[in-house]
Amino acid sequence: MKIKCVFLIVCLLSTACLAKEKLAISAQGIEPWRGVHLGIGNKKAVEQLTSVVPRLAGLGVNVIVGEINYGYQYKSHPELARDDANSAMQIKNLLAACRRHRVRLIPQFQCLGHQSWSKNTAPLLINYPQFDETPGKYPDNEGIYCRSWCPLHPEVNKIIFALMDELIEVFEADALHVGLDEVFLIGEDACTRCKGKDKAILLAKAINDYYKHIAGKHKIEMLMWGDRLIDAKKISYGKWEASDNNTAKAVDLISKNIIICDWHYELRKEYESVPMFIEKGFHVWPASWKKIDAVMAFVDYSKRHGNARMLGHLNTTWGAVKINELPTFKPLRYAVDSFSGK
Ligand SMILES: [Zn+2]
Repeated sequence: MKIKCVFLIVCLLSTACLAKEKLAISAQGIEPWRGVHLGIGNKKAVEQLTSVVPRLAGLGVNVIVGEINYGYQYKSHPELARDDANSAMQIKNLLAACRRHRVRLIPQFQCLGHQSWSKNTAPLLINYPQFDETPGKYPDNEGIYCRSWCPLHPEVNKIIFALMDELIEVFEADALHVGLDEVFLIGEDACTRCKGKDKAILLAKAINDYYKHIAGKHKIEMLMWGDRLIDAKKISYGKWEASDNNTAKAVDLISKNIIICDWHYELRKEYESVPMFIEKGFHVWPASWKKIDAVMAFVDYSKRHGNARMLGHLNTTWGAVKINELPTFKPLRYAVDSFSGK
């Protein structure tokens, strides 16, 4: 009994300590966010990541954004889990490794867009084709980049929120990343609910719905990619890194407490969206990819033009490096060193 009590006290104390550590890398914290983003939508990825966490932490990584999407064995909607989806036990193992090494683990669930990739449609629209923004159009996804769900369908959020609830629970999450990048299909004529509506207002409604659930109900931080909030007419990033489809006005219709992950992968002289988001009152987390010269330029620009609301740097990977080789990924090393004072 005594041993049990001692064990309990130690656990409680260590949890309290970890909570303090986590605060240091919250948006209100003092520690720069030295992060890496990667897909963890299958068992192998989670196992590999779990084993590499100690080395990443040793380099100085203190945040991991794990994009899981339909790669978890959801109990509320088992029909939406991929075949090789992770069990709760596997997520707990990853979480334990992260906590042991003082790494904040943030799950990501890709909302609204990216509901297909190439010919493969993701489980939501396979099982619930009525949620499709362009129902019956684009067979085999030909002629489009990715499918979207309809932000005005009255049943879709009920299902998505159930998935979010499970992720927040199993990850014991203090933040959730909702994706939202590259939403090209929104307010389409093919949708009877959205046809003719202002795309920025539609996007803002979706963002506000998620924010209300995540920050309002769960009281945790929300992150999203920033590209649909950047006006391509004002900042010449092109139609991928910025919005050329009339969604950018949404930037003024959403909570400033949302953390904007501002991704840019090309070498540029300026990355004006960083000061733009900061001036509007957001916290911004610049994100780069694999081109080392672009990573260096973006990291350095962010440091010059940021303030306390510029959180650090997030390295994405997108398959450019194997998970077990992540600690040798030069772009990650540069950004982490840069925000470690090395
Ligand atoms: Zn719609």
